[in-house]
Amino acid sequence: MVDFNDNSHRRYNILTGEWVLVSPHRTKRPWQGKEENVVNEIRPSYDAECYLCPGNERAGGHINEDYTKPWSFVNDFAALKKDVPLAKFKSGLLKAESESGICKVVCFSPDHSLTLPVMRVEAIDDVITLWQKEFKNLSDKADINHIQIFENKGDLMGCSNPHPHGQIWAQRTIPQEVAKKNKQLREYWHNNHSSLLGDYIKEEQELKERIISENENFIALVPYWAVWPYEVMIAPKKQHRNILTLNTEERLDYARIIKAVTIKYDNLFKISFPYSSGIHQAPTDGQDWESWHFHMSFYPPLLRSATVKKFMVGYEMFATPQRDITAEMAAKTLRNLSDIHYSNL
Ligand SMILES: [Zn+2]
Repeated sequence: MVDFNDNSHRRYNILTGEWVLVSPHRTKRPWQGKEENVVNEIRPSYDAECYLCPGNERAGGHINEDYTKPWSFVNDFAALKKDVPLAKFKSGLLKAESESGICKVVCFSPDHSLTLPVMRVEAIDDVITLWQKEFKNLSDKADINHIQIFENKGDLMGCSNPHPHGQIWAQRTIPQEVAKKNKQLREYWHNNHSSLLGDYIKEEQELKERIISENENFIALVPYWAVWPYEVMIAPKKQHRNILTLNTEERLDYARIIKAVTIKYDNLFKISFPYSSGIHQAPTDGQDWESWHFHMSFYPPLLRSATVKKFMVGYEMFATPQRDITAEMAAKTLRNLSDIHYSNL
């Protein structure tokens, strides 16, 4: 049998139907690429210049509430706007259609200096509670059929403001990444009458090779088909189509595992670890998405140190994503890291 740990191979992503090229033999090659500067800045709890701190004025003249818990507002520079008239355009091979939606900003904490890994579990639980409230309110709107909750953390991910915050973009159509998963999840449900992701989690629990953290209700693992070097997926063990059906204990376990994963991330290179994270949930288009199983993915750009970034260029732009270290190697590294944040050691 071929040893996949030492030979190039490709792996199938059951959730999207796409492939990733894995080249583990390349991990020994010398690195002479770009290194990023590391800035481990200590930030104040309040910054008078920050447009997300409580009581401050934002561009456009809005004044932030004097909030003490997670707080959200409509993005002043939203990519999607409400009340866009429905229209389709077609001329020869050119095709377009109008798109409408609502973009919100979610401040995780009034404290400018914090990040998810150093927030208390109860405070992360408050963030999830606000996500639930937003998801419910947005999903009740007839013209909102998909809700994307996400966070861009760190300059490397293009996030210009270090204040702990994420975003929600809700829209009329189903975006591409989710449409791929709709198809895969539905097909598996049709053929097997069970959750594709639920069955995958059971396999991972038997193998134990890619799990990095686990509690009673949630699991965190490096997916078999991970593209980013230290990509992680968090999912509930029991099938939930979206975050609304989590009970209090499940919600707390979700908060605990978010904290556990982001602490390991920070401990990896002893920096505030950059990533994009997002929650994929069943569309809110009124269909019965019995096949859906919500999950949260973390896509971090760092590769072998705090200063070496992975770029998706060349072959990856033109052909298919590629990685060097295997999902198992990444999982082992993350699993073995301390569960206590390095700043407290
Ligand atoms: Zn701030």
